[in-house]
Amino acid sequence: MSKIKIAELFYSIQGEGRYMGVPSVFLRTFGCNFTCDGFGMPRGEQSKERDFIAADIKKFFKYQDLPLVSTGCDSYASWDPRFKELSPMLESNAIVNRIMEILPQDHWKDEHLVITGGEPLLGWQRAYPELLDHPKMAGLKEITFETNGTQKLTEEFKEYLVKWQMPNLDFAREITFSVSAKLPCSGEKWEEAILPEVVCEYEDFGTAYLKFVIANEQDFADAECAIAAYRRAGFKGHVYLMPVGGVESVYAMNNKNVAILAMKNGLRYSDRLQVPLFKNEWGT
Ligand code: SF4
Repeated sequence: MSKIKIAELFYSIQGEGRYMGVPSVFLRTFGCNFTCDGFGMPRGEQSKERDFIAADIKKFFKYQDLPLVSTGCDSYASWDPRFKELSPMLESNAIVNRIMEILPQDHWKDEHLVITGGEPLLGWQRAYPELLDHPKMAGLKEITFETNGTQKLTEEFKEYLVKWQMPNLDFAREITFSVSAKLPCSGEKWEEAILPEVVCEYEDFGTAYLKFVIANEQDFADAECAIAAYRRAGFKGHVYLMPVGGVESVYAMNNKNVAILAMKNGLRYSDRLQVPLFKNEWGT
C-alpha cells in the first residue's frame, strides 16, 4: 500500500482561485523544491522568521501550535525538514478514513479535494492513483492540484489522469491545476520558477490556471513578463492576481490595490478568503 507524508489534512472553504468559496478537503503533502524566503521582504533579502521558530521546535507538538509568519512561505512547516516530525507518513487507507471523519457526512457530496503542499507534484504522483481510486473516494468529482508549476507529470500519472477525461459521466472527474508560479518577489530564480512548457502540459490533463502573488507594481511588471512567456509557449488558461499576505495586516494593505490592478488589465482577481475568515490559521 502506498504512503504519503501528510503535513495537514483538514476541511475548510477554498479561499483562492477557481473554486473560491467551495467547501473543500485539503490534503497538504510534505516537501517542496523551493523555500520562497523572499515573500514580504525587500528585494534580495530573505526572511529569517522560520529559523527563529525552528530554534524553539521542542515547544511545538502539532501544527496548530506553530506561529504564523508575515514573511516567507506561510506553509513553511510543510517542507522545512526541521518540522518534519509533525507530518506523519500515512497509508492511503488511513488518509481516506480520516477524510471520511472530517467530511460533514461520511461520504462525498459537493465537496472538492485540494491536494496542496509544499509541492504536491514532487514525488507523490506515484501514490495518488491508489488514494483516489479508493472505493470511499468514488463520489469525489472535483480535484485541484495546487502546484508551483515546476514539476513535470510522470508518464504513469499522465496515463492515470487520461482515463478521467473519458466521456463517461459516472466516471469523469474534473481535474484542475492551480499554478502559483513564483515571481522574483518570492526569492526564487526566474529560470527555475517560470517553466512554461511544464505548465502547458498540465492543460492536456485538466484545466490549468496561473495565480501570481502580487505586492506592488514591480511584482505586476514581473507577472506581465511571465504571462507573456506562458502565452508564447501556448498556455491558454486564465490568469489570476492574488494579494500577498498570509496575515491579515499585510493582506489588508494589498487586496484592494491588487483587485484594481486585475480590473485595469483584464485579469482575474483571487482573494485569500482564509485570511479575513479564519486569519489563515493552520487547518484553514
Ligand atoms: S512553492 Fe509554495 S510551498 Fe513551496 S516554499 Fe514556495 S510558497 Fe512555500
